[in-house]
Amino acid sequence: MSDVKVRFAPSPTGFMHIGNTRTAVFNWLLARKLGGKFLLRIDDTDVLRSKKEYEDAIRDILGWLGLKWDEEARQSARVARYDEVVAKLKAEGRIYACYETAEELEVMRKRLMAQGKPPIYDRGALKLTAEDVARYQQEGRRPHYRFKLIAGKIEWDDMVRGKTCYDAANLADPVIIREDGSYLYHLPSVIDDFDFGITHIIRGEDHVTNTAAQVQMFEALGGKVPVFAHLPLLTGKEGKLSKRLGSLGVRELRAEGIEAMAICSFLAKLGTSEAIEPFYDLEALAATLDLAKLGRAQPKFDEEELKIFNRHFVRHMPYDKLKDRVRGGAEFWAAVRGNLDSVAEADKWYDICFAPLEPLIEDAALTMAAAEELPPEPWNEETYALWMNAVKAKTGKKGKELFHPIRKALTALENGPELKNLLPLIGFERAQKRLRGQRA
Ligand code: GLU
Repeated sequence: MSDVKVRFAPSPTGFMHIGNTRTAVFNWLLARKLGGKFLLRIDDTDVLRSKKEYEDAIRDILGWLGLKWDEEARQSARVARYDEVVAKLKAEGRIYACYETAEELEVMRKRLMAQGKPPIYDRGALKLTAEDVARYQQEGRRPHYRFKLIAGKIEWDDMVRGKTCYDAANLADPVIIREDGSYLYHLPSVIDDFDFGITHIIRGEDHVTNTAAQVQMFEALGGKVPVFAHLPLLTGKEGKLSKRLGSLGVRELRAEGIEAMAICSFLAKLGTSEAIEPFYDLEALAATLDLAKLGRAQPKFDEEELKIFNRHFVRHMPYDKLKDRVRGGAEFWAAVRGNLDSVAEADKWYDICFAPLEPLIEDAALTMAAAEELPPEPWNEETYALWMNAVKAKTGKKGKELFHPIRKALTALENGPELKNLLPLIGFERAQKRLRGQRA
């Protein structure tokens, strides 16, 4: 095992959507490809918005996708450790207290914007005298805290974006602790990544600016800065994807019959120079991972495309990948799969083949003749064609006029898998009864 370790760090404030699922997929695949570990970290510092229901749902979806984690951590359990680091960084002057109210900050922001300047916090708090602070405290103001960035260039070699460079002068010192004492995500995330030995961080490019500040946080902790990879964000028809776009929730996709591996295959190749093709196991998919093949443009995620891909995925699915999920055997699967939109639909065909059914008789003379001509078992490859020829000769019917009534008698449906493949599953006895209009 290598020392590579990645993490997926969802905030349990909503259900898994296609955007954070993609982040999880990439992290998991990279861990596998590099022989490393995958940590599931629950970022539950936002006590009000974090819910057990969401956390359970995240675990459920990760399990369903097959993205097993080797370790797990929870931010709410690590506050004492964060406090310890904060005390040290305060002593070193890297964390400082600020007393501006949200309204005051907003006024400052607007003033800077009006002057055509970037809305960067002016570090007014660093100029406060002891009397100022005492006065604020008397007024009942409580401090929030910022991390002080050091002037200069912040650079990293991003696995997706290549060399990425920020000038600290263009960044505001990030707020890391709120007035109520609760932590914002930035610093705890770095402390965790440092403590858990995270070597690679793959996440959405909406975090790029956070990364610039976090690089300095890693340095302040005396740790090695992990390798970063920022994935271009997916866009949907409505623009940027967000947790609020319920229709793109992975639970919903699952309920609609989208296969877990179809989602993984699709997301791993979307926006890369490679074609999207079905992978039926994660290990094989991991072997193909190459972040350098990801383009810089924001890929469009189209639910319709995923559905079309899923259909293709299902129709080519090897039987051993779903034998625990379908009632019929390999022969049954081979007969019906070419006609399915989802694996669940196979169930319907199982009942059509093996459970009593009320046939639909459209041309009784024809189906009675077909019943008479049906050769007794055992059948072979040629049976169906020979039978059809015999019925054709006897009735003079051909094409749709011949096949349609037979299909409706045998399956009670207008369309479906090839009759040639269904017939051996239905069997002589049942087929004959159905052709005669009897429930069988
Ligand atoms: N909890 C953060 C999020 O969901 C994690 C970001 C990160 O990967 O560092 O956005």
